[in-house]
Amino acid sequence: MSTFKELIRQVKSEIREVSVDEARKLSAGGAVVVDVREADEWSQGHVPGAVFIPRGFLEQRIEEKVPDKAQEVVVYCAGGTRSAFGARTLRDLGYANVTSMRGGFGQWKEAGFPILVPKTLSAEQKSRYSRHLLVPEVGEAGQTRLLEAKVLLVGAGGLGSPAGLYLAAAGVGTLGLVDSDKVDLTNLQRQVLHTTATVGRPKTESAEITLRALNPDVRVVRHDLRLEAGNVMEVIAPYDVILDGCDNFSTKYLVNDAAVLSGKTNVYGSIFRFDGQASTFVPRQGPCYRCLYPEPTPSEMAPSCDEAGVLGVLPGVVGLIQATEVIKAILGKGDLLVGRLLTYDALAMTFRQFKVRRDPKCAVCGEHPTIKTPTDLEWSCHFEPRAAAPAGVGV
Ligand SMILES: [Zn+2]
Repeated sequence: MSTFKELIRQVKSEIREVSVDEARKLSAGGAVVVDVREADEWSQGHVPGAVFIPRGFLEQRIEEKVPDKAQEVVVYCAGGTRSAFGARTLRDLGYANVTSMRGGFGQWKEAGFPILVPKTLSAEQKSRYSRHLLVPEVGEAGQTRLLEAKVLLVGAGGLGSPAGLYLAAAGVGTLGLVDSDKVDLTNLQRQVLHTTATVGRPKTESAEITLRALNPDVRVVRHDLRLEAGNVMEVIAPYDVILDGCDNFSTKYLVNDAAVLSGKTNVYGSIFRFDGQASTFVPRQGPCYRCLYPEPTPSEMAPSCDEAGVLGVLPGVVGLIQATEVIKAILGKGDLLVGRLLTYDALAMTFRQFKVRRDPKCAVCGEHPTIKTPTDLEWSCHFEPRAAAPAGVGV
C-alpha cells in the first residue's frame, strides 16, 4: 500500500510535465489544452481556448473532444496534481503526446498569461430565462449572447411595440429606440408599448417605462430624434442588429443604406390594413431593401396608417416575425429570411414567401454602387404602400 505522496511521485515519473511557458507555446502551436478542474473553478477563469472536461468525466468525454490520439494535448488543473493523473489516464487511453502543465492554472495566472472569465447568469437570471435555458438552441451560452446583444428598434410604434416587448422579455440586453413622436390616443389600438397614462409623453419615454418594468436586465437607450442622413450612421453604430419598424419611405431607405454601408443586419417589416410583409437583409449575403424596391414610391401613392387604417393586431404578427428574426440572428441559429420576402394576409389567413435576389445593379449593394453615404430623399414621403407581392418572384 503506497501513500498519496508515493503515488503522485510514481504518476509524475510516468508522464511528461511542461512549464506554463512551454504549455503556452504548445497551445499556440496547435496543442489542445484540456482543463480538468470542476465547473466552479472553470467559471472563475480559465486558459483561453481550453477545452473543459472535469476530471471525473475525462475518460468518457475525451474521445469526443479530441478524436485524434496523435494530437498534442496539454492537461491542466489548479496546481498540477489532478492533471498529472489526467495525463496518465490519457496515456493509458492511447494518447501519444500528452503533457501535464506544472503548477497548473495558479502558476499560469502568476506568470501574467491571459485568462478568460466566462460570463455566467445570476440565480435570478437563471430563473427568469429558465425556459430559454431548456432549449438546446439557446441554453446558457445563447442567453448570454442575448444579454450582450444590442438591438436598435427604428420606431416605437406598431411594429416596434410587440418587437420591443418580446425582445425585452427574452433578455436582449440593450434596446435602442428611435422615435421623435409623442404618444397619441389613436396609437393605443395597436402600439402596445404605450398606455393611456402615457398619452402626450414622448414614445421613447413611454416605451422605456414599459420595458424597464418588464425586465430590469434591459438597458433602454432613447434616441428622441428623426433619423437623417447626418445622424443615421452615428445612431446605428453601437448596435449589432437593426429592426426596421418605421412607417415612412424616407426612413426605410435611409436605414437600409446605412445598414448596408456599415455591414449590419436589418430586419424589415411593413403593414397595411390586413397585409403585412417581412424580410431580413444581411449585407453581402442577400438582397437589400433597394434590391426589392429600387425606386421610392411618391408619397401620394403611399397612404399612411393614419389615412388608410390598419387592423390593430396586424403589427403584432409582423413585429413578432421581426423579433424572431432578430433573436435567430443573435443566436446564429436557424434560417433567416435572407433572400425571401414573407407576406401575410390576415383576411385570408395565409402566409406566402417570395424569392428575392440581390440586384447586381442595386444602387447601394450592387457591383457598382452609386450610394456611398446615406442621403436624405428629396421629397417628403409618407408611409408604406400596400404590401403586395412583387410580380414574377413567386416560389
Ligand atoms: Zn441592394
